[in-house]
Amino acid sequence: MYYNDVYEVPLPPNHRFPMGKYKRVRKLVQHQLAGSENLQFLVSPLATTEELTTTHAFEYVQNFEKGYQTPQELRNVGFPWSPEGVLRAFSSVGGTVAAACHVCSQPNRWAAHLAGGTHHAFYDRGEGFCVFSDMAVAANVVLERYPHIQRILLLDLDVHQGNGNAVLFQNDSQVFTFSLHCSANYFSARQRSDLDIELPPNCSDNTYLVTLRYWLQQLEQQSYDLIFFQAGVDVLKEDRLGRMDLSLEGVRRRNGLVYEFAQRHQIPLVICMGGGYPRSEDWEPILEAHASVYVDAYEFWKSHVAA
Ligand SMILES: [Zn+2]
Repeated sequence: MYYNDVYEVPLPPNHRFPMGKYKRVRKLVQHQLAGSENLQFLVSPLATTEELTTTHAFEYVQNFEKGYQTPQELRNVGFPWSPEGVLRAFSSVGGTVAAACHVCSQPNRWAAHLAGGTHHAFYDRGEGFCVFSDMAVAANVVLERYPHIQRILLLDLDVHQGNGNAVLFQNDSQVFTFSLHCSANYFSARQRSDLDIELPPNCSDNTYLVTLRYWLQQLEQQSYDLIFFQAGVDVLKEDRLGRMDLSLEGVRRRNGLVYEFAQRHQIPLVICMGGGYPRSEDWEPILEAHASVYVDAYEFWKSHVAA
C-alpha cells in the first residue's frame, strides 16, 4: 500500500477539500491491519515528467511545476499553487504508477494507493481537485513497459463521472472506461466513457448493488489484463457532496463485488482512493468507509489468494 500523506497542500481556512483525511485514513488502515503479514506501507514516489507526459501535455506539466497557471486554471482545480502542492500532485500519480508496476510483475496480485483516483484531469487542464489523472498515467506507463498488458479496465465507482479518463481514453481500444455515478452530480460537461451508467440521487444499497452486479457480468464478456478501481466513497449517505444513500455496509459489499470480479478472472488490481467529503462535524463515516476499502481488500486477498 502506497501513501502520499507526507505532502499536504496548505489551504486557506474553511477550504472545502478535506486535506487531512489522507493521513487519518492511512493511520486507521495501519491500525486495523497492524501486524498483518505480506503487507507493506510505502511512501509514494514522485512521478517523473516522462511518466506524466505519456498522458498530459509537456507544457501543462511544466507550467504546473513552475506555478505558471492562470487564476482561472487554479480556480478550476480548486487548490492554490504551492511547492507542496507540486510534490503532492506528482506523488499522487507516482504512487499509482508504482502500485500498477508492482502488480504487473506477477499474476493475481493487488496493490493500493491511499490517495489518487483523480479522475477529473484532462490532457492539458485539471478540474475538481484533480491536477493529473493518476490512473490514466499509470495505465499508459504499464502499456509501454509490460508487453503482456494489452487490455485495461478503469472501473470508476466514485459518485462523480470519471470525465477526465473518459476523454483521455476516448479513442483508445486498449483501455476501457466504465463509470457508475449519480445522474445529479455533474459539475462540468458530461463526457462519454466506454460505459456510463447513471444512478438516481438518493439511490439505496440494493439498487446500487443490483446495478453494479449486472454491469460487472456484462464486462465479463471481455478480458482484461489489469483493473484500476477508483474506490471513491462519496456514494455514502453521510457524504457532504455525494447525494446518494449508500450505507457503510453497502459500500463494503460494492468493494467486495469488485474484489470477487478481479479474483474470479485472475486479473491484477490497483485500488485508488477517489472522493469522500466528510461533513465538518463528523469525519468518522468517511474515514471508516475509505479505510474499509483497503482493509477489506487485504482480508479478501489473504483468504482467497494466500490460502
Ligand atoms: Zn467524487
